[in-house]
Amino acid sequence: MPEQLSKAHLKLKDSATRFAETVLLPRAGTTGEGREVANASQAIGFHQMTQPKAHGGSAASALELTVVREELAAHNPPYLESVFGPGPGVLAGCGEPLASEYLVPMLRGEKRGAFGFTEPDEHPTLGRIDGDVVVVTGCKSYVTGGADADFINTMVRLDDHGPAMVVIDTDTPGVTLTERFESLDGSHHAAFTFDEARVPTSNIIGKPGDGLPRAMRQIVDTRLLIAAQCVGLARWTIDFTTQHLAQPDRTGEPRGDKEGVRLRYADMRIQTYAARSMLYRTARLADAGDNIVNEGIACKVFATDMITSVVDAAIQLVGGNALVVGHPLEALYRRVRAWRLAEGASDVLRLNLARGKLDLDKGIL
Ligand SMILES: Cc1cc2nc3c(=O)[nH]c(=O)nc-3n(C[C@H](O)[C@H](O)[C@H](O)COP(=O)(O)OP(=O)(O)OC[C@H]3O[C@@H](n4cnc5c(N)ncnc54)[C@H](O)[C@@H]3O)c2cc1C
Repeated sequence: MPEQLSKAHLKLKDSATRFAETVLLPRAGTTGEGREVANASQAIGFHQMTQPKAHGGSAASALELTVVREELAAHNPPYLESVFGPGPGVLAGCGEPLASEYLVPMLRGEKRGAFGFTEPDEHPTLGRIDGDVVVVTGCKSYVTGGADADFINTMVRLDDHGPAMVVIDTDTPGVTLTERFESLDGSHHAAFTFDEARVPTSNIIGKPGDGLPRAMRQIVDTRLLIAAQCVGLARWTIDFTTQHLAQPDRTGEPRGDKEGVRLRYADMRIQTYAARSMLYRTARLADAGDNIVNEGIACKVFATDMITSVVDAAIQLVGGNALVVGHPLEALYRRVRAWRLAEGASDVLRLNLARGKLDLDKGIL
C-alpha cells in the first residue's frame, strides 16, 4: 500500500515530486523531442530504472517503478513519455546476434523499436521457414511509433511452429509502411504490409513458437505502467476538482455544498482508492515473484475504467468550461480513453481473466 513504503521508497517519491515540479511542469505548453527531459532524468537515475543492469540500467523493482510513475502522473505533467529509457521488452534476455544488433542500440537510444501485434482479421501475419530465412506475409495495422522505427518486434504465426516474435527491419525489401495515423490521445502509429519479406531465422526471438509468452511478458509490464499512470492522473483530477468545488457558485455558496455534487465527488474518491490499493498490491506481488498475468489484467481493466469515469465525473462537475479545447480535463479525457483498447481491449482481457481461473486455475482475489 502507498502508506507502507520504506524510507528508500519515500525518498524516491520525493525525487519524483521534485522532478515533476522542477523539470516537467515548467515545460507545459512547449513541444519538442524531450531530449532535455531524458538527460535530466538520466542525471537523477529515473531513465535507467526500466533498463537491465547488464546494460547500465538499475532494473528497478515493480514497486519502485510504480512509486515514480504514479507520483509523476499525479502532477499531470507534459513529457511523461520522455522520463524512462526504453526497456528491453520482448528482447529481454535475447542472445546474439539480436543483442548486439537490436537490444543494445535500442537501450542506448541509437535504434528505435516498435511492437507489431494487432492485425486485420483478413490479413494475419504468417511466416514459413525457408533454409535460414523466415518468409513473412500479411499486415500489422496499429504499430505505435512505427513510422520512426528501425525495426518491429512482430508477432508472426509460423507454419508448423505457432506464434513467434520476429525482429523485422522496417527497410527490409517487401516491408511497406502503408499508412501513418494519429489516435485521439495524440499518439502516432503506422500500418505495415509484409510481402514475402525475407528475414534471417536468427531474428526469431527465443524458440520458434514461444512468441505468445514473450509478448505477454512485455504486455504485463506495460499494463502496470498504464495502471500507475491512471492512478496518478486520478489523484490530479481529484485535486483539481476539490479546488473547483471550494469556489463559490452563482449564488455565492461553495460548489461542493450540494449533496448531488458530493455524491459524484465521493464516487471519484472511492474508485481511485480502490484502484490505488490494487496497484500497490499487484506491484508487491510482482516483486515477490508471483505470476501476475491475471492480477495485471485486473489492475489494467479496473484502473482504465476508473480513470475514464473519474475524468468524466470531473468534467460534469466543472461544467462546459472543462470541454473547451485546451482545458486540462478536455485533454485528459482524450488521452485516457485510448487505454481501454491499447495493450488489450478491456472485454478481451476480462475473458482472459475468466479463462485464467476457469480453465487454468490461476489468479487470486
Ligand atoms: C493508443 C493505442 C496504441 C496502440 N499501440 C499498439 C501497438 O503498438 N502495437 C499493436 O500491435 N497494437 C496497438 N494498438 C492496438 C490495440 O492493441 C488494439 O486496438 C486492441 O487490442 C483491440 O484490437 P482491435 O482494434 O483489433 O479490435 P478487435 O479485436 O476487433 O476488438 C474490438 C472490440 O470487439 C470486442 N471483442 C473482440 N474480440 C472479442 C472477444 N474475443 N470476446 C469478446 N469481445 C471481443 C471487444 O468489445 C473489443 O473491444 C494500440 C491501440 C491504441 C488505441
